[in-house]
Amino acid sequence: MIRELQLRILPEQAASEQSIAAYVAREQSMDIRSIKSVRVLKRSIDARQRTVMVNLKVRVYIDEFPQDDEFPRIEYGDVSGKPRAIVVGAGPAGLFAALRLIELGICPVVVERGKNVHDRRKDIALISREQRVDPESNYSFGEGGAGAFSDGKLYTRSKKRGSVERILQIFCQHGASVSILSDAHPHIGTDKLPRVIERMRNRIIESGGEVHFETRMERLIIDGDEVCGIVTADGREFNGPVILATGHSARDVYYMLHENGVELESKGIAVGVRLEHPQQLIDSIQYHNPEGRGKYLPAAEYSFVTQVKGRGVYSFCMCPGGFVVPAASGPEQIVVNGMSPSNRGSVWANSGMVVELQPEDFGARFSMFGVLAGIKFQEDLERQCYLNGNCKQTAPAQRMTDFVNRRNSFDLPRSSYSPGLIASPLHFWLPDFIAARLQEGFKYFGKVSHGFLTREAVMIGVETRTSSPVRIPRDRVSMTHIRLRGFYPCGEGAGYAGGIVSAAIDGERCAEALAMQIKQSSSFD
Ligand code: FAD
Repeated sequence: MIRELQLRILPEQAASEQSIAAYVAREQSMDIRSIKSVRVLKRSIDARQRTVMVNLKVRVYIDEFPQDDEFPRIEYGDVSGKPRAIVVGAGPAGLFAALRLIELGICPVVVERGKNVHDRRKDIALISREQRVDPESNYSFGEGGAGAFSDGKLYTRSKKRGSVERILQIFCQHGASVSILSDAHPHIGTDKLPRVIERMRNRIIESGGEVHFETRMERLIIDGDEVCGIVTADGREFNGPVILATGHSARDVYYMLHENGVELESKGIAVGVRLEHPQQLIDSIQYHNPEGRGKYLPAAEYSFVTQVKGRGVYSFCMCPGGFVVPAASGPEQIVVNGMSPSNRGSVWANSGMVVELQPEDFGARFSMFGVLAGIKFQEDLERQCYLNGNCKQTAPAQRMTDFVNRRNSFDLPRSSYSPGLIASPLHFWLPDFIAARLQEGFKYFGKVSHGFLTREAVMIGVETRTSSPVRIPRDRVSMTHIRLRGFYPCGEGAGYAGGIVSAAIDGERCAEALAMQIKQSSSFD
């Protein structure tokens, strides 16, 4: 017999399959030996009250064992010799596009400027060790894309629940823990995600697809109103329709498109800093317990949002138990971001703290760049940050309370940011329309969450790459660029995603539209 139950239990009761089974047996007056297995279908933590509870939906197997897999698996056939499509970029959008193409009987040819995820790890280590950023292999570029070395958070505001579940199941099929299927806030972790990405790549190759690393697309091959391939930096041509999934850090791609007269649109972004607290402090605030989280609760998360002078100020991409990382993708830039291991076990909690900006906010200095104004604004701020950070990857930083009170920090708390921090008056050199809003936002967050506004927290500059400042406009139905057939702008860089899962969903949608187009225009079946 199988029974599904909704439980609201203490963290220690929800700690393992055995402890849940023991609870169910006691509550339902059953012999625990009759419970053969417990499957958690949904798990969330309710920390609104002083006593923190865990809400669970569980499937209990009584006198029988589960017969089915925890998720359906996709069959990937052999696509060698089938029609080909070019996928530029092996981030989540590109990888999921490639896998979906295989499912639909199209042979993907993936072209990626960076290295494979294993070799990429060494270049990332060099950023901290030698203060050197390889412009082709860094936190943004390389197999797995921008999210490969991250918290691997897999939550999204997307309302397309079916599509989200499918993406999570594909991650599981390639080695991610099945807990991501039940957790309200699933995440994989930087120690596990690279292996999952590697398996996806192997799947593409085993199915007859191709993956070319250290191969940068330099330009599109355009014939009239149709894109029919790409040329790479080493002079090779790849022919076929093109899914462009190059992410928002590939500024050279936007410049190339603009120079070639490909229509682009400007869009808003959010810009600010990374804020780092001791995790113990966040645990004690969020779990209402000065002792912290105890043995059974995970590192606590937070999420804040408010409006200041007509613009949103909010926390972004929070990484509990994580590290602040140097995420620049070129020389003379400082850009920060966050990542966490799967156990979220570090002693720090970090999050982006950003202000929403619209294209009109960039100001007259940048408006002369038209549709590229947002990119110029980002570049300028990242360079200012580099100059204020001593022209290395050491990042300018300030205590949170000093920033709010417009005072210099004469010392800084310890931080996870491994290239090092330099005390700097961020309140002085950040554009005032960002600094003033962050100050008001921090005061408000400190009011609603007592203890959050503290001198123990450090702000680290700058977080500029929350999303793309440019959209590559496409037709809603055919998913192709509004003026160019055979060209599918995709993922975060094209302005249609804002995270790993939404990029993956967009990759799948572009692949489906492309496959449909190939099927309609040929006798292919
Ligand atoms: P990208 O991931 O940016 O991939 C683009 C790929 O294209 C890159 O691999 C790049 O090398 C390649 N490329 C670029 N130009 C070319 C070219 N000319 N030729 C060939 N290849 C090219 N999101 C979350 O949802 N959860 C998180 O926990 C999270 N943490 C993050 C942590 C960090 C440190 C960073 C940097 C980002 C994080 N993000 C997170 C954001 C997330 O990674 C992105 O939203 C997502 O990766 C976007 O996917 P994408 O495929 O559209 O683009």
